[in-house]
Amino acid sequence: MRFNVAQLLKGPTGAERRYHLSEEIRNLDPDLHPVSPLEGTVTLMRTSQGILATGKLRTVLQLECDRCLEPCDVEVELELEEEFRPTILINDVPIDPTPEDERDDALTIDEHHELDLREVIRQSLWLVAPMEALCRVDCAGLCPQCGGNRNLGECQCVGPALDPRWAVLQTFLAGESESDERSE
Ligand SMILES: [Zn+2]
Ligand SMILES: [Zn+2]
Repeated sequence: MRFNVAQLLKGPTGAERRYHLSEEIRNLDPDLHPVSPLEGTVTLMRTSQGILATGKLRTVLQLECDRCLEPCDVEVELELEEEFRPTILINDVPIDPTPEDERDDALTIDEHHELDLREVIRQSLWLVAPMEALCRVDCAGLCPQCGGNRNLGECQCVGPALDPRWAVLQTFLAGESESDERSE
């Protein structure tokens, strides 16, 4: 996801190049778990200040189901629109480099005229990753009594989950009649 934009920077404002991406992004962030390549189109356009990167990209992130804690895949789409600024002047091209103290490193074209989308994409993925995920809309979740995954039929408990307010009473009763608990 690194692009050499030396030629584009020498071109006129409005000049653009389009790229089709299909990038492996497994190593982008240790806490993000993409299970398919990042795919889509990115357009790099020369602006008066630098290069505007726009594009629509999608991938599939593996998240943890909120109810049953099993891994589940969620397709996410992100839209890019970021302007990158050069750090140095290009020969014969009147670009004012951004002062060092105002630079955003993620949006900086380096001294080799390379524009790197990785950090911008990493941040965007965090923004579009859903806070909550379900492996399926009717996920039955874990049994609050035994912790078994009810999607797999692991749970042998009968009847509805106990109201937590009754938990104290249940503990008390369980102590009184331990032998009865199994047959419940
Ligand atoms: Zn689930
Ligand atoms: Zn259970």
